[in-house]
Amino acid sequence: MSLIVQKFGGTSVADPEKIRAAARRAIRAQNQGHRVVMVVSAMGKQTDELLRLATAVSEKPPAREMDMLLSTGEQTSVALVAMAIDDLGAKAVSLTGGQFGMKTDNSYSKARIRSIDTSRIESLLDEGNIVVAAGFQGIDDDLNITTLGRGGSDTTAVALAAVLGADACEIHTDVDGVYTTDPRLLPEARRVDVISYDEMLELASLGAGVMHSRSIEFAKKFRVPIHVRSSFSDREGTMIVSPAESESSPVSGAALTKDEARITVLGVPDVPGMSQAIFSAIAAQKVAVDMVVQNVGAQGKADVSFTVPRQELQVTLDAIEAIMETIGASGVTHDAEVAKVSVVGLAMARQKSVAARMFRALADAGVNIHMITTSEIKISALVPRDHAADALRAVHESFQLDQRPADAKTWAEIQAGSSPHADMDDVVTRLQNDALEALTLTDIAILEGQARVTLDGVPDRVGVAAEIFDEIGRAGIFVDLIVQGYDGQDGSTSVSFTIGQSDLEPAMKVAQSICQTHAMRDVRGADGITKLSVSGIGLRSHTQVGTVLFEQLASAKINVEMIATSELQVNVVIDSARGDDAKNCLRAAFADALS
Ligand code: ASP
Ligand code: MG
Repeated sequence: MSLIVQKFGGTSVADPEKIRAAARRAIRAQNQGHRVVMVVSAMGKQTDELLRLATAVSEKPPAREMDMLLSTGEQTSVALVAMAIDDLGAKAVSLTGGQFGMKTDNSYSKARIRSIDTSRIESLLDEGNIVVAAGFQGIDDDLNITTLGRGGSDTTAVALAAVLGADACEIHTDVDGVYTTDPRLLPEARRVDVISYDEMLELASLGAGVMHSRSIEFAKKFRVPIHVRSSFSDREGTMIVSPAESESSPVSGAALTKDEARITVLGVPDVPGMSQAIFSAIAAQKVAVDMVVQNVGAQGKADVSFTVPRQELQVTLDAIEAIMETIGASGVTHDAEVAKVSVVGLAMARQKSVAARMFRALADAGVNIHMITTSEIKISALVPRDHAADALRAVHESFQLDQRPADAKTWAEIQAGSSPHADMDDVVTRLQNDALEALTLTDIAILEGQARVTLDGVPDRVGVAAEIFDEIGRAGIFVDLIVQGYDGQDGSTSVSFTIGQSDLEPAMKVAQSICQTHAMRDVRGADGITKLSVSGIGLRSHTQVGTVLFEQLASAKINVEMIATSELQVNVVIDSARGDDAKNCLRAAFADALS
């Protein structure tokens, strides 16, 4: 008999009528012959209300008591759902996290799942019950109640689906699926039938609020197909699975992060360990840094630019001010009026000129690009905030995201055409692990034979990036990483990109001619460089990965020339002579996490 997990979010159980509607859905699934486990969130805004109460009685509520309090929201809703099911004539039992054997570590308010004992749920199912499991909560080894972090019920649902070997994991929510971009920002956004885990992870980290990021990491690691659908209609929603909807469309979704700030640390000595010093000082303030660009150094100095959420600009500036002298940097500049527009797509990793197409769309819409970072499946551009909406529209239109790609497949079509996953053995082994959410690295690898081209003194105005990458594309050159950051010398920018070694000569020709046309300061090329990539699941939510990586490279005295990070990979460009050293020291440092 098939087993399905149905998760209902807060808006789907916000009042008695909705609770009865959720109960009816579960009963209907049971009547269709499924074993049904429901995972339920707290009603409506209950969690916010509890948080408000906590801060009303205490300035600094103890973390343990906070989790004790917040878990009651879900305890209330599961009991009510079970009562509704009973009233509708079916059998149900509600269970708290502790009661169904959800074991976590002891980090209150952001606990990670260690293991789930399925025996109690299974015997209740055997007796014909619908099991109504509380989302978001677990217990630690000392039986303290813990919570998984805001939005954590999604993670409970996916985790239960994984350990129970469920046939489906349905997320019933107030939207009817995943869109190519936020439909509130852009009405022409399209609901997609299928999106890949990797794309969803990138979009979630860019603020596409559909699902808790950790739930997608969990789903990817354990191959749980997720069906996001509306709890108010019977329409099929979006499947989040391994493959993308289309094999050929380079971009599947676009996102806008509106309130960003750019900071540039000027004249940082170009020696190993400097970025590490800067970023550990910021990490100590618990600020998440994004879009890191370190210009390729000249005269022994480099400029390091990055973005932070706008409300964290001041703390970040203070943290940098405090270490300026120690690291010997010459100054700091910032811009609080910027927004980040990004495109994400699994297929872009294999295609030429995707970045050029995005930059062209922005140029044609009159949008200036201040900064660029790319990774294997994502391109982000920092633009002036007052052009953010135009930027998103231009990019969405340019990649025709409002239209279903001609080769798009539905989940049924994908399943019909695919053989069972080769890596199911990995999944089985991972399920035996007693730290289900532990960091999992799939590879630490180097790619040798790379070259880099850097343009200095690139004017910070509309259309320049588009021109550079249009020309490079016309020369038939495949560009891997691109970064554009601030150039401290004169407020211009500096653009670097990596290519295969054999393309260095033609790429230099193109770059030199552009340099002349725009009176840029300099073009520099280098070969003999290596890209070092650490790939895995949960790189962003396990924030230590970046820290350990930079510490390791710094203590091995390996200089980092370029950095590109994503949800799936941390990439750094280093000198080829040190490629093997770097790989070996990282493999040793991360031995526990390598699967
Ligand atoms: N009730 C919790 C929250 O509001 C968990 C959840 O809804 O997923 O964050
Ligand atoms: Mg919620």
